[in-house]
Amino acid sequence: MIDLNKLTVKKARKALDRQDFSAKELAESFFKKIKNEDPKIRAYLSLTEELAMKQAAGADKMIASGKTKLLTGIPCAIKDNLMIKGERCTAGSKFLEKYTAPYEATVIEKLRNEGAIFLGKTNMDEFAMGSSCEKSAYFPTKNPQDLDRVPGGSSGGSAAAVAADMCVFALGSDTGGSIRQPASFCGVAGLKPTYGAVSRYGLIAFASSLDQIGPLAKNSEDCRIIFDAIKGRDKMDSTTVDTFVNKDFDIKKLRIGLPKEYFGKGLDPNVEKSVREAIKFFEKSGAEIKEISLPRTDYALPCYYIIAPSEASANLARFDGIRYNEMVKPELADNVIAFYLQNRQAGFGAEVKKRIMLGTYTLSAGYYDAYYKKALKVRTLIKNDFEKAFQEADVIMGPTSPCLPFKIGEKMDNPLEMYLADVYTVSVNLAGLPGISLSCGAHQNLPIGLQIIAPQFEESTLFNVSDYFEKNYKI
Ligand code: GLN
Repeated sequence: MIDLNKLTVKKARKALDRQDFSAKELAESFFKKIKNEDPKIRAYLSLTEELAMKQAAGADKMIASGKTKLLTGIPCAIKDNLMIKGERCTAGSKFLEKYTAPYEATVIEKLRNEGAIFLGKTNMDEFAMGSSCEKSAYFPTKNPQDLDRVPGGSSGGSAAAVAADMCVFALGSDTGGSIRQPASFCGVAGLKPTYGAVSRYGLIAFASSLDQIGPLAKNSEDCRIIFDAIKGRDKMDSTTVDTFVNKDFDIKKLRIGLPKEYFGKGLDPNVEKSVREAIKFFEKSGAEIKEISLPRTDYALPCYYIIAPSEASANLARFDGIRYNEMVKPELADNVIAFYLQNRQAGFGAEVKKRIMLGTYTLSAGYYDAYYKKALKVRTLIKNDFEKAFQEADVIMGPTSPCLPFKIGEKMDNPLEMYLADVYTVSVNLAGLPGISLSCGAHQNLPIGLQIIAPQFEESTLFNVSDYFEKNYKI
């Protein structure tokens, strides 16, 4: 008997077309699994069961008529900052506790058109600010591999749902690592596409020049299928383009760059061991391994923690208590400014407030040049470092995260340590590049991720390298 919950997108597609089981049976088996497992993991913030069962009935009709699409009848989970029209969308914040999405995100429309079934919305750090899912205003999600540990963040709910077989695949968003780092912590695959590859329309914005939506799935083959379904130019997001690059792949001609800065101080030796073994595998397969340098790596985190909060402070200005949700009754405030302030005081969590304050400060008239403008210049230098590195290497490899999944609560009082969890991922967002995290091993059952980075719009190169690894490497 096959376990329906363990199917990949590719296998589910074949089995549904053969009518081994119906889309309704498949969706029901996921809801059963969620009801059994999720009370301990808490990956989902809400379930969209009524919608899912309606979609499944439609999928079964299409299957019976032999006219299926890429994802007909395949159940997925959606991070709760992506809008499914008519469903609750909280972005992990109390501010949006009662908010219902009035329109559909482009990625959701695309998945819907391909026949995917939406099981529910997944937990996340509030407004995607965090690396552990502990900053959700609702509850923390637990790592399915070890319930005392975090699943990573901010797309921790999506990663945990995939890892615990509570969906076939999921969508997340990545501003500084929020797809790749939770994928790494939960032992699944996660892709952050090139900036501009996937439309952000209908994503609740965190930092608009860094945000990208991408898939989390059981393997890179599934990530490729989902990426193909959601990518491309969208008139609702003027930053999107269709300039994807496909290159021939030959492992014997592949040049892999290892940034020396990614294997230095602060890297857990157990993570390093697994990642180096994976790289050895590529070397044995005939790839050329080169040490390269990304000299501004040290500046990536400070640069990110100026640019991301600056943009967030502007994006979150719209939450004023009049639109979206009222946190405080107007009669409690003397005037409109007091009303805004009281609402923002009550609606945002501490991490979000911290970022708004940081961002407002770095954008303020007296400090703009010293912080924001300088950070923009550093961002260009970081981008140039990658461009130079890609003259010597076709892809860059290293660890996704410097540490293993940490204990719940362990880094809550130490924001700097929490921010360090993203040291290898933020520069990829700053440079607008695609990056994928693949499971490459574990230490005492705690998953470890290998990050692969490619030049802009070369997702296909990432997938070719990843597929080769997943098909041939024995963890
Ligand atoms: N952990 C990073 C932050 O807290 C990145 C978050 C993200 O990618 N959304 O900002």
